[in-house]
Parts: sequence; structure tokens; C-alpha cells
Amino acid sequence: MSKLGKISKGEKCSVKGCAKEAVRSLPIDDVTAAGIEVHGTRRVYLCRDHYKQYKKSTKKEQMVDKWRYGGRIKKFDSPVNTYVKTGT
Ligand SMILES: [Zn+2]
Repeated sequence: MSKLGKISKGEKCSVKGCAKEAVRSLPIDDVTAAGIEVHGTRRVYLCRDHYKQYKKSTKKEQMVDKWRYGGRIKKFDSPVNTYVKTGT
């Protein structure tokens, strides 16, 4: 009767300065990449609030990526390549 994504009761949020009960466990890399400071080794625990914050940050990041690839990246690409070629 176990549900995926749920964690055992009694775990506390791994975010610095937060002592709420955790609702999710995630790879620490994903959480730090979202700009959240946590302590732990491989997996960290997030309370509901910080999990929300984590989801928001990752969503924002994806949108920024899309926006970048949609427009600007191409313009920056060619001059950089030219510089690399002339440099050698
Ligand atoms: Zn928390």
C-alpha cells in the first residue's frame, strides 16, 4: 500500500533553517539547481512549501530555456564560432 513519491513520516525538510515535515524526497542536484539551499548528500527532503518553490523554479528555468533557444541563441552562435576559428 505504498505510494510512489511519498516518503516515510517523520522526515524533516532538508532546507536550511526549515524544520517542517517533508512531503517529498528528491535528488539533491535537482533541488540545488532550482536555487534552493539544502543540506544532505544524495537525496534531500522537502516540505510542502519548499516543494512548491522547487516546482516553480524548475518551471521558470524551462521557460527561460525555451525563450533563449527560441530567439537569441542563434544570433550569439555564429560570432562566437568565428572568434574561435580566427583565434587558432
Ligand atoms: Zn521546508
